[in-house]
Amino acid sequence: MSRKVFLNGNYVEEDKAKISIFDRGVLFADSVYEVTAFKDNKLLDFIAHLERLRRSLKEINIHYNIIDNEFIAIHKQLIKINKLENKEGLVYLQISRGNAERDFLISKAKIKPNIFAFTQEKIISNDPKLEKGLSIISVEDLRWKRRDIKSTQLLYPSLVKTEAIKNGADDAWMIDEQGNVTEGTSNNAYIILNNTIITRNLSNDILHGTTRRAVLNVASNLKLKVEERPFSIEEAKNCQEAFITSASTLIAPVIKIDNVTISNGSIGPITKILRETYIKISIKNGI
Ligand code: PLP
Repeated sequence: MSRKVFLNGNYVEEDKAKISIFDRGVLFADSVYEVTAFKDNKLLDFIAHLERLRRSLKEINIHYNIIDNEFIAIHKQLIKINKLENKEGLVYLQISRGNAERDFLISKAKIKPNIFAFTQEKIISNDPKLEKGLSIISVEDLRWKRRDIKSTQLLYPSLVKTEAIKNGADDAWMIDEQGNVTEGTSNNAYIILNNTIITRNLSNDILHGTTRRAVLNVASNLKLKVEERPFSIEEAKNCQEAFITSASTLIAPVIKIDNVTISNGSIGPITKILRETYIKISIKNGI
């Protein structure tokens, strides 16, 4: 069965979904996106995804009015028509500025954004690989400096992820000029030192993860200590536990950083309780 996708108001077979070569998302990565996890027919952290989408659009001056219920309906309909109500996975949603003659200058003329969305069936809540733990390599962060905007400019993280896999690892953490970790290729990064969870503070340096927000709430409810500050790759290599968060991995332990084994090579107790509690709560609060 071929997948049905959403494109500019219509649900169509994926091979019938066509977009112009003059779409500015295609030509300039002039587009933003969101990825939302679903399980048990519930969208996880979805209102936070919509809030961030609004912010991303605003930061690059794409004028599009997002109505929560419309976007919830699109996501639910995609899950339904692809018969995924009893499965789990991800819904990708992308909004580009629209079609215009190729020009670096963004025309003042009103153009209509292109919107599309599609599902990916994927095990996320009990993927054995994620539970076992990930091996990470560190690489220089060569991305632009507005990483808080969830834009589709994803070439560098995509190259880096490919390099990580080629080197026998699972992913990469990117390092800034000061030797501090910014984030993973598509996830936020955390270490635990002296029983304190440390993750980089929010700024333009990192994407403001929706899972990050929810997980820090869970940590606070569990009375765990949290420090939001940059941490160095050296601190990371000497930490008690490490993990990542994202909609597509939820919480996944990191058990190796540049060939240094972390947490004896298995999920540590703090990561484990956070993971279990977050998954339970996010499904319970899902919409
Ligand atoms: N950082 C980057 C660079 C990402 O691409 C992502 C997710 O795609 C995240 C962090 C995690 O964000 P979220 O938890 O909202 O999925």
